Amino acid sequence: MKRVCDWCGIGIVTTRADARFCSSKHRIYAHRAAKRSPIPQRLTSRDRWVRWRYELRNGKPTKAPITADGRRATSTNPDTWTTFAAASASTLGEGLGFTLGDGIGCIDVDHCVSDGVIDPRALELARTPNAFYVEYSPSGEGIHIWHDADEQPGTRRTENGLSVERYSAGRYITVTGRPIGL
Ligand SMILES: [Zn+2]
Repeated sequence: MKRVCDWCGIGIVTTRADARFCSSKHRIYAHRAAKRSPIPQRLTSRDRWVRWRYELRNGKPTKAPITADGRRATSTNPDTWTTFAAASASTLGEGLGFTLGDGIGCIDVDHCVSDGVIDPRALELARTPNAFYVEYSPSGEGIHIWHDADEQPGTRRTENGLSVERYSAGRYITVTGRPIGL
């Protein structure tokens, strides 16, 4: 397996099996980026990051996962995922994404933000006891509720009048870094 710096993507020459950076400078940059980010360590510490771009599927724009260096990524192939540092350092596509699993799930609530006001029913969902981070979706019209979850089949249904999708595996979810304080 090719070893590259998590920060700059340049190949590393090292004898250490766990080396992740080309230099201490880039290790420090990566740690600073994670510290600056509102995204919790629960997510930034896991090597389950991708980026995403819009692709047309059946004529409709969909958010497709890509690797930090622009190849197609899938939520089932860990070889296409990377660290938070590497995904953050990349400028490809529209932004970051995180692959669910390993105890991390997400509730995706569409169209629950209107004129900057979050639907109280969505806020109620966000107060689920195992939630640890809530943020706006890329459109700003939905919210993503990140929570601890055992892997189970995803659901997509109307709950209390809201469009709610719940996933805990086999999916990636966009991450904007625009948190919602509760
Ligand atoms: Zn580097």
